[in-house]
Amino acid sequence: MSGKPPETTGFGGAGASATWREEPIEFATERIAEEWLKGRLNKLTRLVVLDGARFASEFLGWTFILTCIWRSDDEDKALGGTGVHAAWRAVDVRTKNRPASDMEQLVAYLNGRYVYDPARPSKPIAYAREHGTGPHMHIQTHPNTIGRSFMRGA
Ligand SMILES: [Zn+2]
Repeated sequence: MSGKPPETTGFGGAGASATWREEPIEFATERIAEEWLKGRLNKLTRLVVLDGARFASEFLGWTFILTCIWRSDDEDKALGGTGVHAAWRAVDVRTKNRPASDMEQLVAYLNGRYVYDPARPSKPIAYAREHGTGPHMHIQTHPNTIGRSFMRGA
């Protein structure tokens, strides 16, 4: 036995994995980086984006580049938005040069994990879009968003 104590990770105690990892996310502009780091982005939206970014990074070799977080009401109207960006509940991810199968797998992964609004089960948490600022994946949450495994009858 060496005198060295077993390595601990702080939270969670033995067996818990709390290894720190860099977020696999990049930003199209300084404004978006600041919005991610210091803005008022909804916490659940952040969690879902990080979940999608981890999936994309590990299984698709795709590092997310965020192209939009917050929009003013005027910016949102000009782009034909629904107000979800203005409410800090949506994030756009660049999909330029990614194969369609990447978007399909990511959409299937996130919509398989989360229900945007159980009262409107056809509304997606993530979808691919060609409009606005260029081809992108739109990821959004609602105050009622839950993990799909917690939805009765899912
Ligand atoms: Zn969007």
